[in-house]
Amino acid sequence: MAFDDYFDEKLYRMQNTPEVKEIQIHKLRKHLTRFYNQSPMIKMFIDSQGVAPEQMTLEVFRQAFPLMGQETMRGSMASEGVKEPGYIVQMISTMLGIDPDDYVLMCATSGTTGEPTPYFFTAEDLEIMPRGTSRGLFMVTRGDREAIRKMRTIQGFGLSMFGAGVPLVESLTRLGVACIPVGAEGGTERILKFSERFAANCIWCTPSLAEYMVDTALDRIRAIGFKQVFCGAEPGAGIPEVRRKIEEGFRAKLYDGMGLIGGLTLHSCAEEEYAGMHHLTDDMFLFELVDPETKELIPWEDQAAGELVMSPLQGYSMPPGRFSSGDVAQIFLSPCKCGEPGWRLKMRGRTDDMLKVKGVIVYPAAVDGVITGFVPRVTGEFRIVLDAPPPRVAPPLKLKVEYGEGVKEEDLEALTKEIEGEMHTKLKVRPKITWVPPMTLERATHKTKFIEKTYEQE
Ligand SMILES: [Zn+2]
Repeated sequence: MAFDDYFDEKLYRMQNTPEVKEIQIHKLRKHLTRFYNQSPMIKMFIDSQGVAPEQMTLEVFRQAFPLMGQETMRGSMASEGVKEPGYIVQMISTMLGIDPDDYVLMCATSGTTGEPTPYFFTAEDLEIMPRGTSRGLFMVTRGDREAIRKMRTIQGFGLSMFGAGVPLVESLTRLGVACIPVGAEGGTERILKFSERFAANCIWCTPSLAEYMVDTALDRIRAIGFKQVFCGAEPGAGIPEVRRKIEEGFRAKLYDGMGLIGGLTLHSCAEEEYAGMHHLTDDMFLFELVDPETKELIPWEDQAAGELVMSPLQGYSMPPGRFSSGDVAQIFLSPCKCGEPGWRLKMRGRTDDMLKVKGVIVYPAAVDGVITGFVPRVTGEFRIVLDAPPPRVAPPLKLKVEYGEGVKEEDLEALTKEIEGEMHTKLKVRPKITWVPPMTLERATHKTKFIEKTYEQE
């Protein structure tokens, strides 16, 4: 099997068009019908909603299937009480109506924030993934099959990671990319050694690992001569400062990606200025945006933002339904300057760091973006002062901002107006700024701290 056994250019060009919407509804019905016929549990659920799977509409689907978060699947790994060995396999295969021996790959999330979430793959699932991945490779190489064939990549994500581990290696090798599966567990030294000995020319890893390599092994990564760095699994590759650091450090092009499970593929393009990730699998996944607080549907319009909800339209690695990853994103429906297809998405934050000022959703990272734009007139350090627990904030949004070295007191009034104006334009919120001298706010050594909770100090 090779690249063109998986890549379908007609479907690739059909992204974000009315034609693909017809495919979506057709595939949704087929997907539900299949589970309806093979899983008594799913049949019982669909019957209880009083709908026939072959007549499903998007509206009915959204009403019938409740939103599921990561916890839903994760709960199954929790080990309270005595459980039979392999009960997770039994439980999941019974739920989906699958013979457990049809699984050919069993993975789970790392579980850094709780119990790991299991993801099992059938042979069919392994065939689905490269169909999506091929579109990402086609986009970044502008269809240059020879460039794809010449890729020799380090797989530097955790090898046991559910999507970016073995499934990524499986997908890439099927598409003709040579893989060197070192895995993040092997450590940076091993990644560097294998890159040198096997002459790797690209790397798939988290942005934090890429940054760490820039910090600790700059000469070696430059000598290896990576041409592309593909990042994912965490935000970072979409943040301008992080992008600059990785691209300048590696002297390579950086791409931001998301997906894999169920074929899902979102990929940033080669545009100089980050244009977000193009969604390249409208025929494999349904997307919607909901209000992170009320979970009500947000109209799918250019530049709309909300909690991202996805529904697979094929495969067995996820049950049918609506899944939230806990990310809040903004969508862009207008065509990208690069000319490649697909609506685009920029990550804006996690549902748990959201603030809501008089109904307007604000993310600390977005406030940071505006403040950083005023350096050196400000130091870049600031705090959002909360008098009550989030997400609701009684207006105005209070900010404590450090002015820059050499800024005179008489200049602060004008600077206040400028920042307030900029925040109003970009974030639709007018803050109340309190100025503090440079180096007043405590410097975070580990993770940037944007919030000051006065309600906890009282
Ligand atoms: Zn683009």
